[in-house]
Amino acid sequence: MALIVQKFGGSSVANAERVKNVAGIVTDTYKAGNNVVVVVSAQGDTTDDLIEKAREINSKPSNREMDMLLSAGEQISISLLAMAIEDLGYPVVSLLGWQAGFETDSNHSAARIKKVNTSRLKKELDKKNIVIVAGFQGLNKYDDITTLGRGGTDTRAVAIAASLHADRCQIFTDVEGVYTSDPRKVSNAKKLNEITYDEMLELATLGAQVLNNRSVEMAKKYNVEVEVLSSLKRVPGTIVKEVTKLEKMLVRGVTKDTDVTRISIMAVPNIPGIAFKIFGRLAAKNINVDIILQSVGRNDTKDISFTIAKDHCDLALQTLKDFDLLDGLEIISDSDVAKVSVVGAGMETHPGTAATMFKALYEKDINIQMISTSEIKISVLIDKKDADSAVSAVHAAFFAE
Ligand code: ADP
Ligand code: ASP
Ligand code: MG
Repeated sequence: MALIVQKFGGSSVANAERVKNVAGIVTDTYKAGNNVVVVVSAQGDTTDDLIEKAREINSKPSNREMDMLLSAGEQISISLLAMAIEDLGYPVVSLLGWQAGFETDSNHSAARIKKVNTSRLKKELDKKNIVIVAGFQGLNKYDDITTLGRGGTDTRAVAIAASLHADRCQIFTDVEGVYTSDPRKVSNAKKLNEITYDEMLELATLGAQVLNNRSVEMAKKYNVEVEVLSSLKRVPGTIVKEVTKLEKMLVRGVTKDTDVTRISIMAVPNIPGIAFKIFGRLAAKNINVDIILQSVGRNDTKDISFTIAKDHCDLALQTLKDFDLLDGLEIISDSDVAKVSVVGAGMETHPGTAATMFKALYEKDINIQMISTSEIKISVLIDKKDADSAVSAVHAAFFAE
């Protein structure tokens, strides 16, 4: 008998018919003699709709109250799925995050899992129940509800698989697996049979929504093999796993991220310690800086540009404005930008990947504003309006038929 963790995203439980479909998948797994823990997201656009409801009342609600509100979405979906399974005649119990033993830190709206107390989960499994757990939500040490951030249900599923030493962790979604690019945007994107943790982590961090990046980080840390597959079509998906037996592909995927703002500080004094002081202040405010570009100093000044997540823009601008060393300097922000990236472990040992990417962009007359690279990825910052055509062109350059 195996223990299988199955996660279903919002689109997989969007309406009654989809909930019943999921109940069918879960009970088939149970019928085959397995223990099953199911982790579920809020139905369809519920989380977005709740966010909208909050905005109608308060434009800057506290994160604590947002967590209280948003966690309601998962409470609805777990109970509905449990009812669908009851209706099929199987033993089932639904649990909220805290009932399933999820302790998190107090960073409301982006909490991190601190501990999973599995005793209740184990008790329910021993009773031969199918256990349905609410994704996304947890409890902090003050007994307040927290949430793990958007897409956090993936992380919840991997955490349960890790803490119960599950035999399999399946992430069901609305596409058949991880593709070389978003299959909804790039028509000839190919499904990958396998991908390494490191590649998937880069893809997820750089905008491929199909898995949340923290879930991949956790899967790597605890060596949980994750399968991404469709809840609508029963075909094999993509296995995310350690590197060892995987053929190194030059490029495994192309992705875009439009949740980016570029900030430029013009004519900063060209003296030691400036970068330290600017980025130290941003770090103190928990602002994550991504690509950094500094011009060569001229006439005792230099320009510094960097990118951050869009929702940190106001805080970053205020932090820079409050910094007396930058008094009177021109500070520009631009949110009409996008980051397009190629990811692949093979590029580590294969020269020319960057040139292929840049040529594809040049042929579409797309201007590159910034570039950043690591061993297994190349990212460029471009105009947001060019993002989709850039992804298609770069994808075609690496995955021509
Ligand atoms: P869920 O509701 O199941 O969590 P998400 O919407 O979060 O699903 O993620 C699935 C979506 O991710 C797909 O519908 C697809 O459009 C998008 N996506 C982006 N990049 C990729 C990729 N490289 N491979 C597969 N899907 C991708
Ligand atoms: N419902 C939450 C969201 O939409 C969590 C999740 O689906 O993973 O972000
Ligand atoms: Mg998701």
